[in-house]
This record gives sequence, structure tokens and C-alpha cells, in this order.
Amino acid sequence: MALFQISEPGQTPAPHERRYAVGIDLGTTNSLVACVRSGVAETLPDGQGRHLLPSVVRYRAKDVPVVGHDAIAVAHEDPLNTIASVKRLMGRGIEDVRKLGQSLPYEFSHGDSAMPRIRTVAGDQSPVAVSAEILKALKTRATQSLGMELSDAVITVPAYFDDAQRQATKDAARLAGLNVLRLLSEPTAAAVAYGLDKNPRGIYAIYDLGGGTFDISLLRLNRGVFEVMATAGDSALGGDDMDHAIAEWIMREAGIRDNADHRQMRRLLRDARATKEMLTGAERATLRIQRDNDGIWEGVLTRAHLNTLIDPLIDRTLPPCKRVLRDAGIRVNEVDGVVLVGGATRMPRVREQVSRFFGREPLADIDPDKVVAIGAALQADILIGNKRDEEMLLLDVIPLSLGLEIMGGMVEKIIPRNTTIPAAKAQDFTTFKDGQTALLIHVVQGERELVSDCRSLARFELRGIPPMVAGAARIRVSFQIDADGLLGVSAKELTTGVESSVVVKPSYGLTDNEIEHMLRDSITHAREDEEARQLRERQVDAERLIEAVQRALAADGALLDAKERAEIDRHLDGLIAAREAKDAARIKQAIKALDSATQTFAARRMDANIRRALTGHKLEEFSTSGDKPTP
Ligand code: ADP
Ligand code: MG
Repeated sequence: MALFQISEPGQTPAPHERRYAVGIDLGTTNSLVACVRSGVAETLPDGQGRHLLPSVVRYRAKDVPVVGHDAIAVAHEDPLNTIASVKRLMGRGIEDVRKLGQSLPYEFSHGDSAMPRIRTVAGDQSPVAVSAEILKALKTRATQSLGMELSDAVITVPAYFDDAQRQATKDAARLAGLNVLRLLSEPTAAAVAYGLDKNPRGIYAIYDLGGGTFDISLLRLNRGVFEVMATAGDSALGGDDMDHAIAEWIMREAGIRDNADHRQMRRLLRDARATKEMLTGAERATLRIQRDNDGIWEGVLTRAHLNTLIDPLIDRTLPPCKRVLRDAGIRVNEVDGVVLVGGATRMPRVREQVSRFFGREPLADIDPDKVVAIGAALQADILIGNKRDEEMLLLDVIPLSLGLEIMGGMVEKIIPRNTTIPAAKAQDFTTFKDGQTALLIHVVQGERELVSDCRSLARFELRGIPPMVAGAARIRVSFQIDADGLLGVSAKELTTGVESSVVVKPSYGLTDNEIEHMLRDSITHAREDEEARQLRERQVDAERLIEAVQRALAADGALLDAKERAEIDRHLDGLIAAREAKDAARIKQAIKALDSATQTFAARRMDANIRRALTGHKLEEFSTSGDKPTP
């Protein structure tokens, strides 16, 4: 099936019809925009030839915000209004932001929404609004570079971004006047940039060391589809930490006190970063550091010495690499290719260590800080319809399973993790109680069996179900995930057609570490979960039987003599006690016992009911076939 055909297949666009769409890497540290022109994907520079746009926005009192290099240049003068690394806040709630801790220098205002806002001289800004400023700057750059208005874009997001974070990214694009053709995961974009999707199949490791985050993803390519087999990383590890290590070395060498003030620290970090980047191409770098009142310190840092400073940091990327291999259940020699992404992977030492770990040379022909944007541009070019022959476009998968809460606080997974998107799936449910006229639909995301271990995405109600006996209503719940991984859920009672739906727009997301934990927990807790599931199932069965027996006793208790009644009551109490004791095996036994204790009672009730139904009717009114009786 052609999932994304933009226009009739088989027709080649006339040259003047060629359209442009951009690919955008909206990064934590740097952002880029790229486009396919004359068949070549390339990143677009600003007026001064710079391709990377620092993801930094400075708000001003009575003026439009400044984005990028110009914002960084004055960051030290106006730290509270200069916002960096806003990607870490996307789709996060107040609570999540609190957990990120004091590492963020801004002041937050809460208002009444669950979304945190940053106080600036230009008013309170949401992370979505800040990201939109970065996107606007990239859009302007593209418009100037290509000499035409353009608004269609593919934007990349980390593979582990959940629904809330993806939604926030899409909202930012809309605010910036961009039409999102689709969101694409960053490792997938990197793989596409290298044309790996043209291979019939393979397993690829994408090693992404950026300014402040490290991500490792294992992708499995199969028939044009990339599946994220596993992701891991460290959301507080990157080139910035190397800058700190170098700055500390400078302070030691130059005899600068530990309590250097903010301004001096920023200057030191800037110098450290420049030195680090220089040592990627050079063997040694000379430093001239202005000491506050002690004149100038001059020193030399060699690459060999730099390596000893950063080795401990590079070492920290290796356990997550081991973990993705373990989670995916593959050995390192089964990896068919390694792709380097992120500015910090330009460093020779990083390449060396990655090669050593994977036992092969990584792919690094494309600038590692441009590779994601280039992959996004290639994808955008296909989506806009410039490549008619590419019928089936590369698909993504959902990172965590989506499901519903069912009786007993359990999760019924509707769409399992790693299902390719877009996807749609429906499942039928029924009511639990007699006469139930409403149903609470609780949508959750996660790998565990119990609702309490998963993340709640949305709740909505289906009302107006006609009263029926338990189990008679048929409620079809449908999940649809669009190409961006965003979810819509609807519920319909099939006999009456009453319907209700929700678009899942959660107000906050999970932290990367939480997602990773959820994935890992699902593996380590599989057995425990299975036991919990069994218990819940038994408890639900018990509940159902207890209710049914109590109802029957209330209606037809007269059919029993005192001894029979006492026997049933005894087993009923036994089951209630077993349910309370939360012992799956005991509940099972008690259910069996109550079931057999009520056999005679059930038979007697059936007889009584038939007799009641027949009273006053002639026998010929009842036809076994259900057709009209023959006269
Ligand atoms: P992000 O994905 O977090 O937005 P990038 O991929 O742009 O970040 O990586 C930014 C990091 O890469 C910074 O720490 C920067 O110093 C580092 N970097 C960029 N170029 C070089 C280089 N030539 N040598 C070493 N590090 C570099
Ligand atoms: Mg990046």
C-alpha cells in the first residue's frame, strides 16, 4: 500500500512544478536547516556563511527576540533573558522541570497550565514559543537562501521523544508558520543521510554525542522500514562537559580560584570550547587567558593531554552502548554499520574509542553536526512529491506501547511498541456491570502490565450506552496514530452507534531517563508483571462471580433451603476472604469451590425462569428456530 502518495503515481512533475521543502534539525545546542537543490541535499548557511544556528534565544523588552550567535554574544550580560537548551523543556510539566533541578538558571512562572513558562522581560515564554523563535529564524534563512516563500518542513526529534514532546515540537512549528510534513526521529534521519535505507536490511548503531546529550540508538532496517530496536544514553553528557573539564584544567594551571565569578567562568568556558574544537584539527593549541587582576596566563594544551582530560567522559558513553546491544539481544559483531552524529564526534579521540568499541570504522563522511538535517531534507524532498518513484516512504515506529486501562488496573495493549506508523487498530470491549450506561476510557503508554507503572495519556467518557446486562454491550475502541506519532482514540457502542473520541494532547511528558527506565523495567519486571497480571485477572473474575451470586441470592434466594443457603454463603465468604488476601492461587480455588457450590442453585433458577416465562403462553408461541410459529 502506498501510504504517503502526494499526487498521482507515475506522473513526473514538470520542472517548473518542482517544489521545495526543508529538513530541520531542531537541536539542544545547535539547529540547522537543509534542502535538496538540484538533487543534492545541503545545509543552508546564514548571510555570513555559518551553517549552525545556536539554539539560543534572547528576549528584549520592546523588540523582537534575537536568535543564534547574536544571542550568545551577549548571554553573559543578560543571562535571565537568554534562553539556551530549551529542547530539554519541550513537552515537560512543572514537576519534570523541577526535577531537572537548579541546572537551569531561569525563573519559572506556573500560571494555571501544567506547562512551565520562563519569565523574561518580554513576558512569560513557554518552551514551545522559544522553540518557535528558533524555527522562525531557520525559516527566514531558508526563504532568503532559496529566494522564495516556503513553509513545508520535516523536523527531527530524538527517538525517545514521547507523545507530549512530539506534540510540543509540532506546536512550535505551527507557531513559526511551518507546515510539518512529518516528524522524523534523529537516528533515522542520520541513517537516511547515508542512504542506508537503500540497503535490503541491516542493523545500524547511531552514536550521537552533541553539546549536552548523548544518545545511542540501534536501528533495524527491514524492507524500507527502520525500527528502533533500542535506545539509551545520558541526558547530561556531551561536548559541554568537555569544555568544563578543560576550563578546570586551565584554572588549575593558571592558578585561578575555584570561585571564579559567573562572567569569568563564561569566558573560560568559551575559551575552553574554542581550544577543544581547534584540537580536532591541530596537535597543540596555545591559550592566552585573562586573569581577573593577575594579568595574562599563557599555556599550551596538546591533543594528547586533552585526551586524558576527556577520556573519562567518553568512557561514560560505553555502558549505554552495551545496554542497547543487550536490550536488543544482539552481539556487537552483528552491527552492520555505525553512524557518527553530533559535533563532539568530530574529535579524533571519540572516533577512536567508538571504532574500538564496535570493532569497525564508523561512517563519518558527512559532517556529523549536519547529518541529521541532511537526512530530514532528503525525506522532505520525497514527501513534497519530487520523487515519484518512491512509492513507499520510510516509516517510523512508536517508541512505547499504547493501550487502555481495563478492569483491575491492568493494561490492554492495543498498539505494541515498535509498530510502524501511521497505524490504526481497533479492539472490542464490553461492559462489566449490569445496566452500565457509561464507560471511562483511560489511554496509557508504557510497557508494563499495570496502569500504575505506565504513563497516563488521556481519559474520556463514552456515555449514553443503553442499559444492558453485563457483557452484552459491544464497544469498539479505535486507536489511530498519524505519521508524526500523534494519537487519536475513539470509542463507539456498536448496537446504538453512540460515539466519543479524544485527540491525545498531554500537557507534559516524561524525562528521557524515565522512558528509558520504563523500557528497561518492562524487561526486568516481565515475570513480576505476569504474576501481578494473573492476580488482577483472578480478582476481576472473583469480583464478577461474587456480584453474580449476590444478585442471584437476592432475586431467587427463596429457591434454597437453609442448609443449601448456608453452604453457598460459606463459599461466598471464602471467596471474598481470598480476594482480600490477594493470593492468586487461593482465589482460583475459592472460585472453583463457589462455582460448584452454586451448580444446583443455578439449575433450579433456570427451571424457575423458564416456568415463569412460559406461564400464560401457549407452547406453540415458542419456536426453536425463532421463526414465526406454524399455524
Ligand atoms: P546538539 O545536537 O546538542 O544540538 P551539536 O551536534 O551541534 O549539538 O554538537 C555541539 C557540540 O559539538 C558542542 O559541544 C561543540 O563544542 C562540539 N563541536 C563542534 N565542532 C567541534 C569540533 N570541531 N571539535 C570538537 N567538538 C566540536
Ligand atoms: Mg543533535
